[in-house]
Amino acid sequence: MAAQVDVLFAGYVGERVAGTVTLVRENDTVIVIDPGMVPSRQSILDPLRALGVQEDHVTDVIFSHHHPDHTLNAALFLNANVHDVWAVYRDDVWGDRVDVIRGAPSVSLLDTPGHTPQDLSTLIRTNEGLVVCTHLWWSQAGPIEDPLADSQSALEESRRQVLALEPTMIIPGHGPAFTPDALNG
Ligand SMILES: [Zn+2]
Ligand SMILES: [Zn+2]
Repeated sequence: MAAQVDVLFAGYVGERVAGTVTLVRENDTVIVIDPGMVPSRQSILDPLRALGVQEDHVTDVIFSHHHPDHTLNAALFLNANVHDVWAVYRDDVWGDRVDVIRGAPSVSLLDTPGHTPQDLSTLIRTNEGLVVCTHLWWSQAGPIEDPLADSQSALEESRRQVLALEPTMIIPGHGPAFTPDALNG
């Protein structure tokens, strides 16, 4: 079993800030990770529809952490269960945290504190290997020291933990996907 990953929008930081938004599909489960700040809602909806997905069909939304650049547009997805480090939210139901997304056995959540104490990384098994969506890196280019980190030492420990899983691809908080090898160069 494996899931399919598509980056809907590659984020950036600078005068303007946008988060990286990612689509993950496995069987009938359709997951959007970090539907946060983007130039306009179409920056999420257009690439989604181009992949044949209507926003009503999104079953799950995952927040890497609770900053608006990663959460602002969650309400686009009216039928989604919303996951964070604590719980699963749906309408007025505050449910128990899950570690594996229901219907998507290849998609799991890992606590990776550092940027905030409540950071989650999403681990996705694909046919090309493990893909990790995570705010542990803003982008391939850094910064190595996260100036907004709650705890740089926790961040570095979480980075080690993720790299030990030998991902083939990392999808960072504010940039395009990159291969971990790119961090060593
Ligand atoms: Zn943040
Ligand atoms: Zn961010």
